[in-house]
Amino acid sequence: MKPVWVLGNGQLGNMLQQAAAPLAISVTPCGFDDTPPQLPDNAVISAEIEQWPDTPLTRALSQHPGFVNPHTFPRLADRQTQKQLIDSLQLATSPWQALDTPHDWPALFARLGDTVMVKRRTGGYDGRGQWRIHAQNIDTFPTEMYGACIVEQMIPFESEVSLVGARSRDGQCVFYPLTHNLHQDGILRASVAHPEHTSAHLQRQAEQMLGSLMHALEYVGVMAMECFVLGDQLLINELAPRVHNSGHWTQAGASASQFELHIRALQDLPLPTPVVSAPAVMINLIGTALNTDWLSVPLARLHWYGKEVRAGRKLGHINLTHPEPQQLCAALQALQPLLPEEYQSGLAWAQQQLR
Ligand code: ATP
Ligand code: MG
Repeated sequence: MKPVWVLGNGQLGNMLQQAAAPLAISVTPCGFDDTPPQLPDNAVISAEIEQWPDTPLTRALSQHPGFVNPHTFPRLADRQTQKQLIDSLQLATSPWQALDTPHDWPALFARLGDTVMVKRRTGGYDGRGQWRIHAQNIDTFPTEMYGACIVEQMIPFESEVSLVGARSRDGQCVFYPLTHNLHQDGILRASVAHPEHTSAHLQRQAEQMLGSLMHALEYVGVMAMECFVLGDQLLINELAPRVHNSGHWTQAGASASQFELHIRALQDLPLPTPVVSAPAVMINLIGTALNTDWLSVPLARLHWYGKEVRAGRKLGHINLTHPEPQQLCAALQALQPLLPEEYQSGLAWAQQQLR
């Protein structure tokens, strides 16, 4: 097997390393400021993030011939070129346009509605770099951001889902069941995968969308697609050319996790559709100190990232899976008193998805 290096050494890189260990595949996550490693000719290089600062390490890895998907990263890291790609394939996405000068506003409101969602083209995550703008609060929008943002219509969605899939070098695509996601203030709080409750129509639609995107990019590895649900229609919200937070439940709820799937695709290993035989839940741990009492809930599988605790920061997650939805609900209820107030609506939402 070929050794793998990962650009970025956050939790995603670490979980790629953990998933590769049983296959005896070496995965080395690299921090941007690390000293560039001596890379063998057969090195496979991937990334856990869409963009990176220019450092000796990032230059060495991203310019190595073993770097997989080199053209996809810049194309998807910029929301404008990402939207252009989605439009060029005639896939449904929230209507959008570029924001270049303050003179654009009247036409933007006329076309997209009284309140619009402004997003930084690059560098935003977890809802950061986004503004809800209407005629009365335009002055709150930072002037230096003109030219660096796109504007989207506010979508009155019923719910949010994501699809995680993988493509092999020879064009085979496999997908997990759709994940139902709860975002609050732009950050993912909880995910539920419940294949029996998921519409086959939406699943097919999502697979066609993500499949055509991965083919167009000749992509290799795992990609995630976040969507808004409007009736029986999906609108693409955004794409991530990497393993994704909304796929973390696959560590517990699927025959192969998204991390293993990514490694397999990079190594040209067999890529059967992962089997999901029970509903699964993932609760994100955000800005909350470690509480080992979580481990007293038998179904709770804790992944703690070992990062410094900061408000709004993703610090870990808890996966739970069980063939009986009632058992899962009982475990979520057992977690309720062990988590702060801001988790309660997410725990209740997850139980609703399972009923
Ligand atoms: P991520 O952490 O997934 O990378 P992000 O910061 O890149 O998030 P988005 O996924 O674009 O940003 O938006 C975060 C959330 O904000 C969405 O999941 C959704 O709940 C809400 N949102 C984004 N765009 C829209 C829109 N056009 N209309 C309504 N809600 C939206
Ligand atoms: Mg998102």
